[in-house]
Amino acid sequence: MRIQRLMSRASSGNRSLTRRLLIQLLIPVLLLISIAGCVAIFVASQSINTLFDQQLKNNAEILLSFLQYEYAEEGQNNSAAESGDDLSEELVEIASEIESRQGLSILYRLRVGNTVLYTASQARSFPSCSPGFNDFEKQGTADLPSMMWRCYRTTRSLLQSDTPLDVEFFEHVTERQEAIKSLLLATFSPIVLLPFVVLLVAWWVVLRGMKSLTVVSRAVSERSVNNLNRIPCAGQHTELLPIVQSVNKLLAGIELGVLREKQFTDDAAHELRTPITSIKMLEQLIRRENTDPAITGYLDSLKDSADHSSLLIDQLLKLARLQSTQSIEKTSLDLYELVNAQLGLLSPLITNKKLVVQFDCDGRSIDIDAHEPSLSLMINNLLTNAIKFNDRQGTLYISLNSTSLRIEDDGPGIKTEDATRVFDRFFRAANTRAMQGTGLGLSLVKWVVDIHGFTIKVEAPSKGTGANFVVYFNAEQD
Ligand code: ADP
Repeated sequence: MRIQRLMSRASSGNRSLTRRLLIQLLIPVLLLISIAGCVAIFVASQSINTLFDQQLKNNAEILLSFLQYEYAEEGQNNSAAESGDDLSEELVEIASEIESRQGLSILYRLRVGNTVLYTASQARSFPSCSPGFNDFEKQGTADLPSMMWRCYRTTRSLLQSDTPLDVEFFEHVTERQEAIKSLLLATFSPIVLLPFVVLLVAWWVVLRGMKSLTVVSRAVSERSVNNLNRIPCAGQHTELLPIVQSVNKLLAGIELGVLREKQFTDDAAHELRTPITSIKMLEQLIRRENTDPAITGYLDSLKDSADHSSLLIDQLLKLARLQSTQSIEKTSLDLYELVNAQLGLLSPLITNKKLVVQFDCDGRSIDIDAHEPSLSLMINNLLTNAIKFNDRQGTLYISLNSTSLRIEDDGPGIKTEDATRVFDRFFRAANTRAMQGTGLGLSLVKWVVDIHGFTIKVEAPSKGTGANFVVYFNAEQD
């Protein structure tokens, strides 16, 4: 899941910080592992080579000591008159015995003075080596491939005389290399797993580090004009603190702006109320004194304007008061009761228009956690519109269940192109402009819907012929 999320983010054009951190961490680590591995393998192969050389040297020295000893023994056992040639023959015998008796695959050549006394059968065609270590290639034949050999040559004097006894000890280099290879493989093959282990550890570490960033970004995404609560600084990582503080500063600025706007609306509404009340009083006074139809006609349109302004001011005040409510406290409410209460309040209008009310509800109570004053206002506005725009003697359809509230009427309805615009402040559809209204009611409804996390939609008529407003209590609704 996480990998998929990272991949999809990467493909959307935004660069992933996790990926970047992992790459920046892994490249030097893998480089270091490779360098350290190469150095370790080189040093180890050098040391093993030295050990093999040491062993070759030791073998040659042991063989030489053995031959020297055997030669001395034979010399003592036989009569002192025995000639040097006889002793040399003894030595050849001993040497060939070593090869046949031990059944060893050791290859060596034996010299006394400058004379080659004995050469192991396989080493007959080998070149003569200089003292110390030597490498040479034995040319291959039709059956055998050419082979590399290493030789150690050492010299010592015979015990009875100064004649040098000389041994060349041969070793097959390919065999040595094979041995070194399998030794290195057994020792260093676990290194191959190291990058994967490092990758896993780095992945885990980076994801853990990013977790706090995710928490902060989730907290920021939860903020809106209706939720300007500051993000807690306590417990934040030092690196994230400046971001959190900046976001909090921004939230404080937005809150101040929103408060100023609300305050202005509130003040303006208050200031406007007084002159409107005076206009209404004057209109009534003049009407009492005048019966002239021309003047009463003017007075009627003056009254309409004053009523409209008064309605507008009322809505503005409601909007300002609701939005300046510092805490939207939610309590458990019975929606069925709330709708019934609003229907009771609006019953004079319903009776006046001779409407039939059809109220369908799943059960007698629908419990919901909500802010009572604003939810009542939302229901009131939707019902008022459904009554106001309904046809005379039409039906007011209300359906309520635990997931939605549907309010429908038989009025002119809402055109598809106006379906989203009706929630904008001061928007009034062209086909209903003749009716009294301010264009503020549905923007209030939308605000209430938003602060509760609900969804509101204008859907195609299902029972009536007019508008069909549906409030879904679950915001996830499409
Ligand atoms: P007002 O009703 O005061 O004009 P609203 O914000 O409540 O303001 O509604 C905005 C507009 O949406 C209305 O002017 C009207 O054009 C349209 N509207 C709202 N409810 C209905 C409805 N039930 N039937 C038809 N049109 C509606």
